[in-house]
Amino acid sequence: MPAGIKLVAVSKSRTPDEIMEAYSTGHRCFGENRVQELLLKVNNLPADIEWHLVGHLQSNKVRYIAPFIAMIQSVDSLKLMRIINEEARRNNRKISCLLQIHIAKEESKFGFTMDDLKNVLQHEDVKKLPFINICGVMGMSTFTDDQEQIGKEFRMLVRYFTELKSCFFADSRYFNEISMGMSDDYEIAIKEGSTMIRVGSLIFGERK
Ligand SMILES: *Cc1c(COP(=O)(O)O)cnc(C)c1O
Repeated sequence: MPAGIKLVAVSKSRTPDEIMEAYSTGHRCFGENRVQELLLKVNNLPADIEWHLVGHLQSNKVRYIAPFIAMIQSVDSLKLMRIINEEARRNNRKISCLLQIHIAKEESKFGFTMDDLKNVLQHEDVKKLPFINICGVMGMSTFTDDQEQIGKEFRMLVRYFTELKSCFFADSRYFNEISMGMSDDYEIAIKEGSTMIRVGSLIFGERK
């Protein structure tokens, strides 16, 4: 893997033993998509694991992960940003977040559209939420074999990142990450400028 690209090992549906196998090779950064599953694992695994949440987060569950979560990659509403900020404050820590942007062709309830996101950022100075660090964007490509299409979507996410950075985060030292690329498309993502890939089945084997 090219230097400077961070690998998040997505361990959803894997057992603590499987995670420990990766841990024992030196890997420390793992991603989960469900709060309940994450909480079960956190208590059974070493404390120096850096946990990322990569799946949709309901606002009433933020408080369970606020004490320890390293990064929430799936922030998709202003309401969620405010609640994460509040729960981080209660825990006297800062939480790193990525803005999830919908780039795929499939319908999805999750992720900002670029229009919604710009609207939020124009009306709210989210940099003034002192307990969250907005570190960049996250996106998922369409589930397809069409490499051209996937490349197009990743380029679009990079363009969005660049636009957001210059319009809203020019003076932020945190806004640097483009989280894109999974087992089937991480090579395309890296070619297009990913800084963080989220890989599950390629590391742990096919999910049942
Ligand atoms: C499951 C998942 C991944 C990893 O998927 P693989 O195809 O197993 O690499 C990455 N990102 C998110 C948001 C996921 O839910």
